[in-house]
Amino acid sequence: MSDQVEKIAIIGSGPAGHTAAIYSARANLAPFMYEGYVMGGSAGGQLTTTTDVENYPGFPDGINGPEMMQLFRKQAERFGTKMVQEDVQEVDFSQRPFRIKGDKTEKLAHSVIICTGATARRMGVPNEEKLWNNGMSACAVCDGALPFFRNQPLMVIGGGDTACEEAMYLTKFGSKVYMVHRRDELRASKIMAERTLKNEKIEMVWDSVLIDSIGTDFLTGARIQNVKTKEEKEIELAGLFYAIGHVPNTKIFQGQIDLDETGYIKVKPGTQETSCEGVFAAGDVHDHKYRQAVTAAGTGCAAALEVERWLAAQGIE
Ligand code: NDP
Repeated sequence: MSDQVEKIAIIGSGPAGHTAAIYSARANLAPFMYEGYVMGGSAGGQLTTTTDVENYPGFPDGINGPEMMQLFRKQAERFGTKMVQEDVQEVDFSQRPFRIKGDKTEKLAHSVIICTGATARRMGVPNEEKLWNNGMSACAVCDGALPFFRNQPLMVIGGGDTACEEAMYLTKFGSKVYMVHRRDELRASKIMAERTLKNEKIEMVWDSVLIDSIGTDFLTGARIQNVKTKEEKEIELAGLFYAIGHVPNTKIFQGQIDLDETGYIKVKPGTQETSCEGVFAAGDVHDHKYRQAVTAAGTGCAAALEVERWLAAQGIE
């Protein structure tokens, strides 16, 4: 293990991680970033697995997700962020400075910003891998407005608040939206469920599960099975959106900081502080509500400003 103690270790390289890096690098804190491979899918986080990003301010013509993350990275690098392409395997927040063990390196750091994001749950149906981003997505808010979904039949899988929100959002673009849920009652909050059920463009498909996504290069339909009658049917579609929940990438932090009952990192209200002093969190790893690149970047900025003040208060400049 190197004896050098980093002032800030940033774990994760999505919009939250890179924004935290840009702010702390510009404050001359030379942050050390673990870009990671696996937890968010790849270095750069969830945006590297999407196509066009049209809702990030500053890009009026939209930008390709991986290209956008390259720009974030370049900006963080320009101000002196040190980066390693490693996943963190283990952290020890019980000792100070904190100990962080990556795939190859072991480091000490006075402070940590956790930006490991979340992973959208997938179903693993046939053709899913091939049709992902070609009509299939886990984010209607990110992809729903794309031209090929306009005035076409679309489908959302799930029965929670996200599924309701996404189905309602998609009614702005699609000719109709099928909402496929495995039970006969929505999990979503009462108000969201009522609004969804009232929406005339949404057709509920109860007690049903997706068993196949259909298409050669682009999605053209889905095969659905009723779990009670076992009856199967094929529905023509241009878009299929999963809304079956996200899993926060927090496994390595279990027992080190407080997580909520679904595994998201708990922060003190109005701050990015976790239950362990000196450890901060930003982005989707602590946010199951908004989950947008721009909100992740916003909390990444806030975390960096809070770390800067915290380090100064400890006499670490
Ligand atoms: P949830 O876990 O609440 O809902 C997931 C839905 O997907 C459930 O209906 C579940 O079915 C279904 N599901 C899960 N796995 C499968 C599977 N393998 N096959 C088929 N269906 C499956 O996740 P959400 O993302 O909806 O919400 C997460 C949290 O964020 C919640 O606390 C929610 O309230 C909150 N949220 C709040 C919003 C707001 O306030 N505006 C907006 C969005 C989210 P089943 O019901 O049978 O378990």
